[in-house]
Amino acid sequence: MSTKLPELGTIGPTTMLTHEQARQTVIDHLLQNKRPRATTVVNVWEALGYVVAHAIQTDREYPPFDRSTRDGYAVRAADASKGADLRCAGEVKAGDPATTPLARWTCVQIMTGAALPPGADAVVMIEHTQREGDKIRFDRDTRAGQNFVPRGSEAKSGQTILTPGTRLGFAEVALAAQVGQTELLCAAKPRVGILSTGDEIVLVDQKPGPFQIRNSNSVSLAAQTKLAGGEPVLLGNAPDRVDVLRAKIERGLREDVLVMSGGVSMGKYDLVEAVLKDLGAEFYFDAVAIRPGRPAVFGRCRDTFFFGLPGNPVSTMVTFELFVTAAIDLLNGAEARALPLVQAQLGEALKEKTGLTHFLPARVQWQGATPEVKPLTWQGSGDVAALARANCFLVVPADREEIAAGETVSILLRKEVV
Ligand code: AMP
Ligand code: MG
Repeated sequence: MSTKLPELGTIGPTTMLTHEQARQTVIDHLLQNKRPRATTVVNVWEALGYVVAHAIQTDREYPPFDRSTRDGYAVRAADASKGADLRCAGEVKAGDPATTPLARWTCVQIMTGAALPPGADAVVMIEHTQREGDKIRFDRDTRAGQNFVPRGSEAKSGQTILTPGTRLGFAEVALAAQVGQTELLCAAKPRVGILSTGDEIVLVDQKPGPFQIRNSNSVSLAAQTKLAGGEPVLLGNAPDRVDVLRAKIERGLREDVLVMSGGVSMGKYDLVEAVLKDLGAEFYFDAVAIRPGRPAVFGRCRDTFFFGLPGNPVSTMVTFELFVTAAIDLLNGAEARALPLVQAQLGEALKEKTGLTHFLPARVQWQGATPEVKPLTWQGSGDVAALARANCFLVVPADREEIAAGETVSILLRKEVV
């Protein structure tokens, strides 16, 4: 091990990126990632949040029969004109075989989801008919094709309905189940090494001394990792000592991506960048024009991407949302999802220093036609309690010193709570 670490300031890029540029930098580098991706077979009940790694095809046509979308009467449209009387020749409910052809001048009662009998080319809603014994009278003209979904119109047999790289949400797992695919080949969730740093940090289940703090960052990072579709690998905490930090980082570089918190500012004991540099890391950015989160670092070391996120808890959380989520998407073989940014009306005037884009803990409400957002009182980037009262971050652009009440602003949703 080298005895002298590189000087801070000689380590990485010197220009500060905007958060959009920084995120794009992450995306660009991850797209060039050459490391082979692991796959795993996942049962459809467990597959939510995975990204499918193979094409999934239908096993038959969908719908497999002409499927009624109404309760009413299956008819030949030409016979069921306004004022016509047709004899009701029986009924067909969902699941019944529909094999008997519909004779001319007859109809059959049909339920939603049931198959049209051969020869029927329309369904008339029960509300548009009158019944007297087995005679059905039609109140209006009938158009061929109305009120049923033709066989094969949703998908042909053997058609690909889920392509590799598709994220499995509730509709996608239902679709896989619908076509009988219950074991799905998916990208193995990227393993995200989580390493906190700092002499002051104790395990969350330990009683901290009067000047120590619990390792809440490892908890938030693990939670964010899971939400983003990764598998957290807890690597504990490294004190601010080169030897231990180096060993922990080397261990973390065995994972798909390493996310560290703390030790990336300008303090005497902020050693993360120097240790990484000493391990041969390349740095793609080491400053982003945001508050909180300005000293965020992203690079690659021994073929593993790493993030050095600032240790103040809100900084850690914001920078994870802005940058690490995109990396996890791409490591899953999916596209990077857009950030959940939406427009809202500012509920009260605000003032901020210019130069950095601010992400302020805020609450958005959806009472009127447009969502309204108000920043919360907070004590800066260590204030987890304020963030836990927030359901979004209010984004104050770097060039705006004042924003008046009523103006439109962007908010970054905390999607997991709103
Ligand atoms: P650093 O980025 O290392 O200068 O850390 C900034 C501040 O963040 C520290 O003074 C701690 O109060 C806090 N902090 C650092 N690491 C953690 C952690 N793992 N959990 C909670 N707070 C932390
Ligand atoms: Mg520290």
